[in-house]
Amino acid sequence: MTDYSDVLIVGSGVSGLSFALKVAQFSKVTLITKKKKADTATNLAQGGVAAVLSVEDTVDAHIADTLCSGDGLCNEEIVRIVTTEGPDRVRELMDLGVRFQKGKDGKGFDLGMEGGHSARRVAHAFDLTGKEIERALLEQIAVNPNIEVLENHLAIDLLIESKARGQERTNGDRCLGAYVLNRLTGEVETRIAGVTVLCTGGCGKVYLYTTNPDIATGDGVAMAYRAGAKVANLEFIQFHPTCFFNREAKNFLISEAVRGEGGILINQQGEPFMKKYDPRGDLATRDAVARGIDAEMKATGADCVFLDITHKPAAFLQERFPNIYQTCKQYGVDLTQKPIPVVPAAHYMCGGVLVDEWGRSSITNLMALGETACTGLHGANRLASNSLLEALVYAHNAAAKAILDHKSITFEPTPALPPWDDAGAIDSDEVIMVTHSWNAVRRLMWNYVGIVRSDKRLERAKRRIDMIQSEINEYYWDFKITPDLIELRNIATVGELIIRCATHRKESRGLHYNIAYPGKNDLRWKKDTVLRRPFVS
Ligand SMILES: Cc1cc2nc3c(=O)[nH]c(=O)nc-3n(C[C@H](O)[C@H](O)[C@H](O)COP(=O)(O)OP(=O)(O)OC[C@H]3O[C@@H](n4cnc5c(N)ncnc54)[C@H](O)[C@@H]3O)c2cc1C
Repeated sequence: MTDYSDVLIVGSGVSGLSFALKVAQFSKVTLITKKKKADTATNLAQGGVAAVLSVEDTVDAHIADTLCSGDGLCNEEIVRIVTTEGPDRVRELMDLGVRFQKGKDGKGFDLGMEGGHSARRVAHAFDLTGKEIERALLEQIAVNPNIEVLENHLAIDLLIESKARGQERTNGDRCLGAYVLNRLTGEVETRIAGVTVLCTGGCGKVYLYTTNPDIATGDGVAMAYRAGAKVANLEFIQFHPTCFFNREAKNFLISEAVRGEGGILINQQGEPFMKKYDPRGDLATRDAVARGIDAEMKATGADCVFLDITHKPAAFLQERFPNIYQTCKQYGVDLTQKPIPVVPAAHYMCGGVLVDEWGRSSITNLMALGETACTGLHGANRLASNSLLEALVYAHNAAAKAILDHKSITFEPTPALPPWDDAGAIDSDEVIMVTHSWNAVRRLMWNYVGIVRSDKRLERAKRRIDMIQSEINEYYWDFKITPDLIELRNIATVGELIIRCATHRKESRGLHYNIAYPGKNDLRWKKDTVLRRPFVS
């Protein structure tokens, strides 16, 4: 089937939902999401949204903290815009029904403290902030007559004008929508749109250990790259220092806020160790803490370290961290009584589809927002709780600009586009190949392109990913596509892009650490790593 809309949004996290609500005032929106509506990273966010919401804090301080964390690669103008507009966007969320935790006097906000921040500035709904935001936005979406939400619709590839017409690719290429797999019918739909917006979240599933939900397979970055858009800074993958170490508790995060409230990292002998690795100790930025834990685990041969917050009153911990308290307890760890076992895990993609200050990519009518986009805010390392903020500010500004650009966005007819061509493809008789390659990609990325990198490991990683990709490509075109195969192709593409960006950067900066170049080289490398697929048809 072929369908038309003014705006096609791919993804139902904070960025997709916020953008949809704003742009729907002027246009018909179709929002597709590959599983259930709330299967998003947004829904898992614990800490909250960073914004200057207290008289004791200043925008200048928020800017300074963001720049310091970004280690020389932030775009200062973008940092200024996002931090200045942040408070308005947080208040707007409250108007939409988000119940942030109020201050002690019942007014203002109860602001959390997190690593890398010089002031209390994180608005939260206890440790379930993302769930509360997702709930409120979905409720608004449900009653908006201009927004159609389609669950179980997985975008496979973008429709690019020149390719669709069988012409040479050009710099002025236009995006016309996407091919989308309807998981319930198995049909590939041709969805044509005036503007297509990638809000597909991050790529944590590229790595063996991650805090991310299963949907985080980097689809937006992979699709945009295949379509010829510029992508940037993919070497900067943030590893969250403290993921709950328990084989059954899949991907459960212990929020930064636990260290913010006084949690101390200790080794198996019960000794605090972070001061050995960074003078800021337990409140150093995430990259420094993740490397500290990695080094301590390698030095002691331990499987994990521990986060100790037992010195705080039990009642305070149960009230401040209800979700973390309950989940740890469910797996046999009462955090009021004993330290929590933790390990680092892939958490956040600082790079992504390169966009301007309005969320526009290098392809006409293709936008990217939220974690999928590389805006220049995070530079070489995201400051904690700046990502929900970035998604909100960008959704607001991108919608304003899109409306202005297109007056009221209405669909301009394009000539008939070819339907998805799977002639000759048969049902797979070797699903094991897909499972095996998923594991191979994730293990190789964890072992060779993780927290600490080296030239040798990166070279090895490139050779292996090339081989895996050529196997996937053969398989991809011979057999009928399935969600697992589409995602496998995407994690392999994003893995390749991370390896290429990491290999290119011959220094250590922010989240990228290569033992061959332990220092920063501002003269040569104080710039983004930008990749674009060569023009070959
Ligand atoms: C455990 C955890 C805790 C976090 N805590 C915080 C925090 O406290 N503060 C903070 O600022 N940030 C936090 N983050 C980061 C933040 O939650 C994310 O960066 C942010 O929510 C991303 O929002 P998004 O809209 O870009 O993507 P997401 O919320 O991840 O949504 C992506 C959407 O895209 C859909 N999708 C993906 N691919 C396709 C496809 N091919 N076709 C159709 N649909 C597709 C998915 O199904 C999903 O609906 C946390 C992240 C995690 C994992």
